Amino acid sequence: MKLMRERLGENLFLALLKIMENIVTYRAEYLWIDGTEPTAEIRSKTKILADGDEPGIWGYDGSSTNQATGDNSDVVLKPVFQCPDPIRGGDNILVMCETFLTDQETPHPTNTRALARAAEEKYGDQDPWFGLEQEYTMIDPGTGWPAGFPPNGFPAPQGPYYCGVGALKIHGRAAVERHTTLCIDAGLKISGTNAEVMPGQWEFQIGPAGTVEVGDHLWIARYLLYRVGEEHNVEISIEAKPMKGDWNGAGMHTNFSTQAMREGFDAITAACESLGAPGVPEKHLAGYGVGIEDRLTGEHETQRYDQFSYGVSDRGASIRIPWQVSQDQKGYIEDRRPNANADPYVVAALMTETVGAALA
Ligand code: ADP
Ligand code: MN
Ligand code: MN
Ligand code: MN
Repeated sequence: MKLMRERLGENLFLALLKIMENIVTYRAEYLWIDGTEPTAEIRSKTKILADGDEPGIWGYDGSSTNQATGDNSDVVLKPVFQCPDPIRGGDNILVMCETFLTDQETPHPTNTRALARAAEEKYGDQDPWFGLEQEYTMIDPGTGWPAGFPPNGFPAPQGPYYCGVGALKIHGRAAVERHTTLCIDAGLKISGTNAEVMPGQWEFQIGPAGTVEVGDHLWIARYLLYRVGEEHNVEISIEAKPMKGDWNGAGMHTNFSTQAMREGFDAITAACESLGAPGVPEKHLAGYGVGIEDRLTGEHETQRYDQFSYGVSDRGASIRIPWQVSQDQKGYIEDRRPNANADPYVVAALMTETVGAALA
């Protein structure tokens, strides 16, 4: 080694060492959902593995993520889904984990993926599909305001920004493009993106995907979005109503179908009715993200949080039946109520349970 170092010279030796290191190891970025209240966040840390080794069970300090006390702090990470790490490239991977107590069998109380798993076990034979429209806002860290808002005052009112083009209307497109490429490279089921109604606001869609799968893909897509935010020095916010006043909030419209709904309109109607049954809207809203009353005002393409309705093409309804679906007399429904800050595992579990039971 010493001889090699002398013969090659310091720089070449270190470069060679680096190459050898990369050949014999890869990195797994372990991801999990924390216990932050009122809105859970994604966390991650890196494990370096020898080539050929699988990413196994791991753990972390739950007292730093609002998931444990200091005197009993360990939370267990069990890998449940993995995909290529599109940022690091090569053989490196992202590993989505579920959190467990140290008995390794009891899901941690904040483990919402376990709810989605249970719902899928019950009603998976109906083949539920989800398409989630994740809206978000890019915040300029310098001003603390959405990208495109001047430091003092306001931009021109809403109107030209949705699906707009041009430097005065669009802010952050380079970051959006980078995020889309990363999602595709990771193999996520991203199905589209668009600029939204408020300046600095954007959307991407994940789906169609299954009850558990859609949550895995959406959480990883969020993670990649935050990473792109680091690269572009922009803070990504999924807050439901980042700007009070006459500015659109940010939602996570939830498009949903089962096999029966994709085959006939009776099942579409039955699904809508089940979502409006006594007690059901309240139960769903409780899982649709914090600040739901601030966003579901009855204005800005929403139905009020305390009213339930469904209708064809109606963007002021709780549930919209797309025009094409009423034409075809089959397809899917759009629950417009979930907030951008909702947990996709919770939303998918609720939807699968409610409609699944009605159509069983
Ligand atoms: P909007 O017109 O409300 O903006 P989008 O085009 O943004 O709708 O999103 C629609 C989502 O619905 C997409 O992710 C799409 O993949 C998904 N989708 C399409 N067909 C179905 C279906 N049968 N079941 C569930 N989701 C579906
Ligand atoms: Mn959309
Ligand atoms: Mn939208
Ligand atoms: Mn929509």
